[in-house]
Amino acid sequence: MEILPKNETIALREKHIGPSCQLFFRNDPLKIVRAKGQYMYDERGTSYLDCINNVAHVGHCHPDVVQAGFEQMGLLSTNSRFLHDNIVLCAKRLVSTMPEELSVCFFVNSGSEANDLALRLAQIYTGNKDVIALEHAYHGHLTSLIDISHYKFNLPGGPAQKDHVHIASCPDTYRGKYRSINHSKEELGSLYAQEIKDICDKVRDEKAAGISAYIAESFLSCGGQIIPPENYLREVYKHVRAAGGICIADEVQVGFGRVGKHWWAFQTQGDDIVPDIVTVGKPMGNGHPVAAVITTRAIAESFKKTGLGYFNTYGGNPVSCAVANAVFDTIEKENLRENALIVGEYLMDSCKMLKKKHSIIGDVRGAGLFVGIELVTDREEKTPAREIANYVVSRMKEEHILISSDGPDCNVLKFKPPMVFTKENVDELIITLDRILKEVREITESSIPVMQNTVNSSKSIGKGSITIKKPIKEEQIKSI
Ligand code: PMP
Repeated sequence: MEILPKNETIALREKHIGPSCQLFFRNDPLKIVRAKGQYMYDERGTSYLDCINNVAHVGHCHPDVVQAGFEQMGLLSTNSRFLHDNIVLCAKRLVSTMPEELSVCFFVNSGSEANDLALRLAQIYTGNKDVIALEHAYHGHLTSLIDISHYKFNLPGGPAQKDHVHIASCPDTYRGKYRSINHSKEELGSLYAQEIKDICDKVRDEKAAGISAYIAESFLSCGGQIIPPENYLREVYKHVRAAGGICIADEVQVGFGRVGKHWWAFQTQGDDIVPDIVTVGKPMGNGHPVAAVITTRAIAESFKKTGLGYFNTYGGNPVSCAVANAVFDTIEKENLRENALIVGEYLMDSCKMLKKKHSIIGDVRGAGLFVGIELVTDREEKTPAREIANYVVSRMKEEHILISSDGPDCNVLKFKPPMVFTKENVDELIITLDRILKEVREITESSIPVMQNTVNSSKSIGKGSITIKKPIKEEQIKSI
């Protein structure tokens, strides 16, 4: 289990691993050596309730998924240029969960590869180059995706925004450009979508060009657990298609039944919402790298016409597809979508109860096991409580519950636990959060100044020496 003592692991990491490679809790990182279900265990055997892991979708190390990978690994693991049943069965399964127009799959190894291929397909199919993406969005670590990920290129040190990239407002009805306090539900979708139309018109007028793709997460995770308003995608897709573009739904984080009622988050906007490309990843292999692009026959054929064959050494290999098929089986066998719905509703209700108790909670939003709590120091002004969110995340860790914070102001507590999360887990989470928010209230009411660059929150939380720490580094707590 543990090969090296933790201090040696840290020392070797510092010496040999790229210093920009992110770590949770960088100043006091966790060394996780095993995991099961919704729990992770450190080198001393301490258990942590995992509320952030949207990779271990059906529970860490699910025995059926492990067995499927183990058996296939012992039988055949090769590149994907041979016929194999696992890949075609996996494709059949994926498309069976989607609108019927989406009938062709490309298998890849990561969400980034999926989105990169999606952009390439869009350019080939439309003959256009310009891409519309959303504010605060993240779509992957490849150069093509950093270019369209405002979450990254907008940071100090990020690359300059490219000419072909257009960023539209995040459809955040709580603190965004158009808010539910000022507009009706019906208006909000159209107002945010109008911006997309304006961009399409600008590209047409200024460049005499059309749009290649509109790409967005169907629910915006990095943007701060944002649920777009009703009618948003319907209107956006109409505008993009009128400008010659296609619509890409990035379901890398939010897909595979996390939202409960549906397999995919775009489906929550209506049965008539049909993206041209859907990208999926993370949860698909429950920890094994496998991802996919699902598209229409017409788009896939346009790629074929270029004459450039597509080959991806590991994409769709028999082991990855055996694992992905076992994930599908487990979601179905264990009714995990229903669980996400029931436990997710319970989680939302519990968070709303906390909101009644704690004025620091400005908003609670979510669907299924995709939930966010936005912390604000002033409900009227919606002043982001960034330092407090960071404090809460580190205090929760001390209480052995793993959560993260995200959003443009890093003040949104994110919950996206494995789908086997139970109501008892919700109770544990909420009771602890309630206690920590009470601490926060005591601290803020005592007006003790915020201290910078301190590390261990618990040491200074005792009576008489209360401080709230500023984040040491943003990357410590973000969880893309
Ligand atoms: N899209 C979204 C929405 C993501 O959150 C991520 C990863 N966090 C990616 C794409 C990229 O996936 P990967 O890290 O597997 O390349």
